[in-house]
Amino acid sequence: MIKVVKFGGSSLANTEQFQKVGDIIKKDDGRRYIVPSAPGKRFADDIKVTDMLYDCYNTAVKGKDFSKKLDTIKKRYYEIIEGLGLSLSLEKEFKTMEACFIGKAGRDYAASRGEYLNGIILAHYLEYEFIDAAEVIFFDEKGNFDAEKTDQILSERLLISERAVIPGFYGSMPNDTIKTFSRGGSDVTGSIVAKAIKADLYENWTDVSGFLVADPRIIEDPEVINTITYKELRELSYMGATVLHEDAIFPVRKQGIPINIRNTNAPDEMGTMIVESTSKRSEYTITGIAGKKGFATVSIEKDMMNSELGFGRKVLEVFEKNKISFEHMPSGIDTMSIVVHQSEFENIEQEVLAGLHRNVQPDVIEIESGIALIAVVGRGMKSTRGTAGRIFSALAHARINVKMIDQGSSELNIIIGVKEEDFERAIRAIYDIFVITKI
Ligand code: ADP
Ligand code: ASP
Ligand code: MG
Repeated sequence: MIKVVKFGGSSLANTEQFQKVGDIIKKDDGRRYIVPSAPGKRFADDIKVTDMLYDCYNTAVKGKDFSKKLDTIKKRYYEIIEGLGLSLSLEKEFKTMEACFIGKAGRDYAASRGEYLNGIILAHYLEYEFIDAAEVIFFDEKGNFDAEKTDQILSERLLISERAVIPGFYGSMPNDTIKTFSRGGSDVTGSIVAKAIKADLYENWTDVSGFLVADPRIIEDPEVINTITYKELRELSYMGATVLHEDAIFPVRKQGIPINIRNTNAPDEMGTMIVESTSKRSEYTITGIAGKKGFATVSIEKDMMNSELGFGRKVLEVFEKNKISFEHMPSGIDTMSIVVHQSEFENIEQEVLAGLHRNVQPDVIEIESGIALIAVVGRGMKSTRGTAGRIFSALAHARINVKMIDQGSSELNIIIGVKEEDFERAIRAIYDIFVITKI
């Protein structure tokens, strides 16, 4: 059994957390390839090392003195090294890093040092080999992940290493500079490593007991989802359930490698299994709820819209020309709404409006901002009647006005738009009806 095991930032934030991680790895001989994040928060208001690195680099680039900021970062690592009683010095690495900061090696280079240094410490602590991700994870000239090259070189490299630590979050460009994935990207590295070694399982250890039915920052102590499909997870993580980076499923999905989300602070709990498909029914009609704020809707009304050939295309053309991608497009007979990210749309809204008037001569155009979208996701919804009805009656009960509804054709999810100020209450109402009262 080969397991690729990724640990998130809070799982490696200090000595005590490192010890828990060490115990977890030693408990199972199959845990052979380890992907660490940079040290994360030790307590609620703490700062992640990744954020400290961005900040330190910004100071360096401005030509200001960044030595104090660098010292605070060094201290985080030295506390761990001393706490674990390791005889390891990172002075050489810090010297190189300092010189590269002065030489403006790039923001991505700076951020990547978080996992690089943590990887060196973890490898030393576990007595595993250290493999620098810059030598095995690759991006192409355009900065896109180069799956083919990575897979070839990484799998060859892993085959000659019995046990190794490969730091998460970064890789290298064809010109040898460092590039990172987007934030939370160590999850993606873990998945790439699992694919390359054809692992039996990709374990992703974090600070919650699995994928929860709803965001624990909104619902107190939500239930854990035991089994979830890749598709359901994709819908939920895209809509803000950020337990796992939304791109992390692609590499393993192709190989049918399951992901197991586990809690470093409660290692006896089985967490969540993420699988291709399953015959297991979820415990509730829905599998999970997630949502995001920051959307705007552009609603277009025109009599007889439905009989006007090419109407939809002409509308979307305007958005495309202005480089605005849209999230959803619920429509009625004489109405059509386009849901967009408010931050992208704001600066160019007048151009879009003018374009719409020119292209489709609508009767009315209305813009509404401050919209939150909520995704209610579940493979069980297809075979259960009245799911949408239950959602709307729960929301009506909570006196929440539903601004928009969109049900995907896969019947895997229902998307609901509400005012941002109703967002948290709406999630609670939906959670209550499906999970607490189960009616
Ligand atoms: P790590 O640093 O281990 O990668 P993250 O902070 O990226 O951890 O992800 C775990 C966090 O995701 C949890 O602490 C929790 O606050 C948040 N979260 C949001 N939605 C959910 C959900 N549905 N289930 C579990 N955690 C969630
Ligand atoms: N350390 C990086 C971040 O904070 C990557 C990760 O933790 O996955 O985004
Ligand atoms: Mg994460």
